[in-house]
Amino acid sequence: MDAQHSDAQLVHGEDTEAAADGWNRRGFLKRAGAVGAMAAAGMALSGTATAAAKPTGTPVEPDPDILVIGAGFAGLAAARHLRGMGFQNVEILEARGRIGGRTWTDTLQGQQIELGAGWFHPSQSHIQTALRKYGIGIVYDDPMDAVLAQQVDGTYRQYDVGTAFETMGNLYTKFFQGTQTFLPNAMNPLQAKDLIAAQDAYTVADRYAQIGMTAEEKAWIGGTLAGYAGLPAGGASWTSLAQWWGLGGYDANGWFNLTSQKPATGMIGLAQAMFNEANHGITYNQNVVRISDPAATGSSVSVTTAQNIVYRAKAVVCAVPTNVWNNITFTYGIPQAFKDAATEGLGVPHAVKIWMYVRGPQTRTLVQSKEGSKFESMVPMHKLPDGQLMIAFGGAGLTLDKASLNAETKKILGSAYEVVDFKVADWGHDPYARGGWSLRRPKQLLRHLPALQQPVGRIAFANDGLASGWNGFIEGAIESGINAAIKAAEASGMA
Ligand SMILES: Cc1cc2nc3c(=O)[nH]c(=O)nc-3n(C[C@H](O)[C@H](O)[C@H](O)COP(=O)(O)OP(=O)(O)OC[C@H]3O[C@@H](n4cnc5c(N)ncnc54)[C@H](O)[C@@H]3O)c2cc1C
Repeated sequence: MDAQHSDAQLVHGEDTEAAADGWNRRGFLKRAGAVGAMAAAGMALSGTATAAAKPTGTPVEPDPDILVIGAGFAGLAAARHLRGMGFQNVEILEARGRIGGRTWTDTLQGQQIELGAGWFHPSQSHIQTALRKYGIGIVYDDPMDAVLAQQVDGTYRQYDVGTAFETMGNLYTKFFQGTQTFLPNAMNPLQAKDLIAAQDAYTVADRYAQIGMTAEEKAWIGGTLAGYAGLPAGGASWTSLAQWWGLGGYDANGWFNLTSQKPATGMIGLAQAMFNEANHGITYNQNVVRISDPAATGSSVSVTTAQNIVYRAKAVVCAVPTNVWNNITFTYGIPQAFKDAATEGLGVPHAVKIWMYVRGPQTRTLVQSKEGSKFESMVPMHKLPDGQLMIAFGGAGLTLDKASLNAETKKILGSAYEVVDFKVADWGHDPYARGGWSLRRPKQLLRHLPALQQPVGRIAFANDGLASGWNGFIEGAIESGINAAIKAAEASGMA
């Protein structure tokens, strides 16, 4: 089912039937004019150039100098940087019918909502510089006027948010103690390579054991750690989360502020401004299924879409998520690290973001659940005349229909609350994402990162998981896009 949808992972509606209907219709409309079928599941990073590698189909003229595949933040940053370097003949190919990728600004009950990335951190310099340049204001999300419902031993107990954050702050500080020793520079996790190598196999569960965290302590912070990692403690990487702690400034305040600021325009405003500045052409509904790079012969790269349209360029920025690399057949030798990363997956495998219009009391309640809960967390967002909009991050075993969302909401907040409307983005089932934000798993840092940051022939790869700093964030996608633009420019021979 999911392989037939681009943005069709969106569920919205009053009941399951209506949601399913809207889901299909929306997907159909979005794909109008495009070939419906995704790259066949069997397509993979293949390492041999064969006769099948020869592109067929109709070449599109004129050939751009550089092709950028993917119009998420990494692709947009690459396109914009190429413009800054003087490249005028760049074309963007995007599988969806919109820019933004895993950021997706929409509305519910007339309010702006983010179905993907919503927030940024005050120290993210690419984003802050861009917001200033484009004159986009910043909105702060302040949870301090909320109460915290914390699941401790099966039940949810209410706490004053100030006291609760102090408790959590102390626990996170204990959990991440010593990070600066093996990660002195969070923007470059490989700076103390040998020291971080010694830690990189550890999971969050290993770290709990190492510092002797009690069950109650784990209940306070374990849900968030598992939610950020998208994996249970036994699979979540200790060094990846430690990097996020370092990026926040190596303290609890910075950690809590990882998701504190929003662009007043919504993320789409920032993406659109970058796209406008890049000022290159874009072709939507172009699902790239094959890339042929006969670098050895010195000729151009061929990029083939599912509609069998062939594009050629001197170099390519491949700015699609690592988790969908296996949808593209690379008809030349790809280093093993790329194949491993694509097969293992990079980052959060399931990310379900649910926006709900909840009728009832307007008490703002932050919810933190234990690892493995159906709602990992809930965040109060906008007040409405008779209720509020809330975000829930969906976890294991949650069914995405109104009855199930309502049951879970009532279980946590009480029977006075009623889910009236909702929108859900299920990124793990999105064929052009196959997961949420990037977050390396244990042992992936040294095995993958240095190799994945290098171009392969005339192709430079970019996405949020290939960044040195702010890995897994929009800021990291921008860093990676800029680096890939520089490498593609060099590979094109025109820099
Ligand atoms: C629920 C959720 C919440 C998040 N919250 C935050 C947050 O608050 N703050 C934050 O900084 N980050 C957050 N993130 C992470 C953030 O969304 C990503 O880091 C960032 O958007 C990644 O950008 P990207 O360009 O690397 O990838 P993408 O945004 O995924 O862009 C890749 C593009 O490539 C296209 N594509 C894929 N395959 C093909 C193909 N074969 N042919 C052509 N095009 C293709 C896709 O359609 C997409 O447009 C969140 C992510 C999710 C899912």
